[in-house]
Amino acid sequence: MIPDYIPLAMINALAYCPRRFGYEFIQAEMLLNEHVVEGLLRHQGVDLGGTEWVREAVQQRLVYVWSERLGLAGFCDMVEERDGALYPVEYKKGRPGKWKSDHAQLCAQALCLEERTGRTIEQGAIFYFAARRREEVLFTPQLRAEVEQLAAEAHRLAAAGLLPPPIENRAKCRDCSLHALCMPDEVRTLRNAEPQRRSDAEH
Ligand code: SF4
Repeated sequence: MIPDYIPLAMINALAYCPRRFGYEFIQAEMLLNEHVVEGLLRHQGVDLGGTEWVREAVQQRLVYVWSERLGLAGFCDMVEERDGALYPVEYKKGRPGKWKSDHAQLCAQALCLEERTGRTIEQGAIFYFAARRREEVLFTPQLRAEVEQLAAEAHRLAAAGLLPPPIENRAKCRDCSLHALCMPDEVRTLRNAEPQRRSDAEH
């Protein structure tokens, strides 16, 4: 069945790697290793919901948002309202990484929140537990355009229902929690061998 809405977290997966999106969304598979379990446990404190005042800001936890235009839906871990401005905050287990897929997920939340509230959201933040600090993220026209393309691509891949091939980025693959499931090197080797095997069979 083709979904009307793609979960916001899947924008993160797709921004990282289309094959990762394929595993997590199309095949609904994940590997539970120590990093994934730690992330789930870290999120438990965030996932309680509720509203509180903290230093001149109203903080609402676990806010459900969606965009009919982009076909995206999911939760913001927190939305702060400060001086009349809305400010989404996403919580992550590790440290700020060199891959910016977290930024795409946060911007996707902001686009949904904008559609729901009719207000412009200029920036948000990602709180990394391991670094114990917030990374500010500006929602630039480039980042917004990237998220719109990712949303369209997510729907295209979901409709196709096929697992995309591994990406050609070994550094990303090394950092990927799905490495043991995906086996990118082995799949690349087999894919590269296939044309040669066909050619040998034809002669
Ligand atoms: S191991 Fe590499 S190709 Fe496989 S899902 Fe992860 S990033 Fe993508």
